Amino acid sequence: MNTESTKWIDQVIKQDEIDKYLKDGKDFIDEDEIVSKLATNQNPSKEHIRSIIQKSLNIERLSLDETAALLNVDDPELLKEMYEAAGEVKRLAYDNRIVFFAPLYCGSLCVNSCKYCGFRKENHEQVRKFLTKDEVIKETECVIAEGHKRMIVVYGEHPKTDADYIADSIKEIYKVRVKNQNGKEGNIRRVNVNAAPMSIDDLKKLKAVGIGTYQVFQETYHKATYKNVHPAGLKANYKWRLYALHRAMDAGIDDVAIGALFGLYDWKFEVMGLMYHTASLEQTYGIGPHSISFPRLTVASNSELSQNSKYEVSDADFKKLVAILRLSVPYTGLIITAREKPEIRNDVLNVGCTQLDASTKIGIGAYSEKKTKQELEKEQFAIGDTRSLDEVVKYLASIGKITSFCTAGYRCGRTGDTIMCLLNSGTEGKFCKLNAVLTFREYLDDYASPETKAIGEKLIKEELDAISKTSYYKESKLLDVVNDYYKKISEGERDLFI
Ligand code: SAM
Ligand code: SF4
Repeated sequence: MNTESTKWIDQVIKQDEIDKYLKDGKDFIDEDEIVSKLATNQNPSKEHIRSIIQKSLNIERLSLDETAALLNVDDPELLKEMYEAAGEVKRLAYDNRIVFFAPLYCGSLCVNSCKYCGFRKENHEQVRKFLTKDEVIKETECVIAEGHKRMIVVYGEHPKTDADYIADSIKEIYKVRVKNQNGKEGNIRRVNVNAAPMSIDDLKKLKAVGIGTYQVFQETYHKATYKNVHPAGLKANYKWRLYALHRAMDAGIDDVAIGALFGLYDWKFEVMGLMYHTASLEQTYGIGPHSISFPRLTVASNSELSQNSKYEVSDADFKKLVAILRLSVPYTGLIITAREKPEIRNDVLNVGCTQLDASTKIGIGAYSEKKTKQELEKEQFAIGDTRSLDEVVKYLASIGKITSFCTAGYRCGRTGDTIMCLLNSGTEGKFCKLNAVLTFREYLDDYASPETKAIGEKLIKEELDAISKTSYYKESKLLDVVNDYYKKISEGERDLFI
């Protein structure tokens, strides 16, 4: 490593931006307490589990003990009830909408040594690259041409792709406009970020350019495992990462997202870790995570761990953990990425997921190279679902789920605690339903294939019928507004939202 990189690395971690969050020198992950909660909540009675399910159906976040009790359920009858309730909680908080996004990998340079990742610095098989400004624009054009409105930009941790580079790439992405088959302009309306933990000053740079959600996965909450899989580099600092989202809140970014990489340690422990993280954010800022992610370890180039982990999570346990996350934090978004195969994604959608990616390419520059085959030495890990956006939208419409490209929330100030209140009271779902219909109309007219359009038209008609019969919309005059906007969009206006 050259001296410039070493100098950069030395100034990234600000110890005072860890210490200020500790209580009596301790962080919020109490491992003994997690183990004890999992042990004391074993063999829960049916009545107890049913009362927990009912609490969740009332859209209340579960306590740590209640989540631990759900994690100990093995009875097939109760599990079935939990899956049904998880689907119902999703419907109550988010209706039948699924939100779409596309990832854009901007750089594979990395100073870290994560044993599960193809980008780790010791992997000499990896082709290293980061996008120039022109390449960011070209990649964004391809993503817009698919019909996407939301993007998540992803980076390794490296001085060449630091906070200034990230901020510049976000600015460029927001500027790109692409004409579609109708001659209408498409653009990315929300850019979320998945990048390494940063200082509060660096996070303010992202806030200044209009970041949507800031996402950092803790990977594993288990400290000994964390140390083992992150043997060196900036990421070896567990606490710097643990408080990344607290710092984001302090920088004014109030949509933050947590996650764990399932397969590194015991999955029940990790779910508890995610709940402790949620509780800490709620206690400190009055707002929990905007979304939770639960990637499962998939094969990465030159990574023994990614192919052979004793904590691999089975498909059955995966479905269980997704349902438990849904029941435990009813208000949060749940993201299921294209790491998973179509059949798994289709299945866990029914237990409460709210967001999907589609037409996903994770090679650096892969959208404009138009490569269909995966090349692991150019990518972080293998993906399991290569369906196009149109294919997934069509599938969802065929099972009665409407695709939403809504990005109204943050542009109307419905973020952070405002959105949490609205979600908890069920009001946000009411705005979202209308915006889903409006953005779906745009998609059907501008990007859908004839088959998707045919299925989508039927669904959108059912949605409009349901809206016109809902007293809340009639009484609040939102019905008049949505009808007016719908007509204007059908006649060619774009980006109208409520
Ligand atoms: N470099 C930044 C970081 O580590 O925070 C940005 C994120 S990294 C490019 C995105 C995420 O991919 C990681 O947080 C990790 O959870 C996930 N990931 C890494 N290797 C993986 C693998 N082999 N299978 C599945 N997910 C993986
Ligand atoms: Fe780098 Fe992130 Fe991969 Fe770790 S997970 S090696 S920090 S890109």
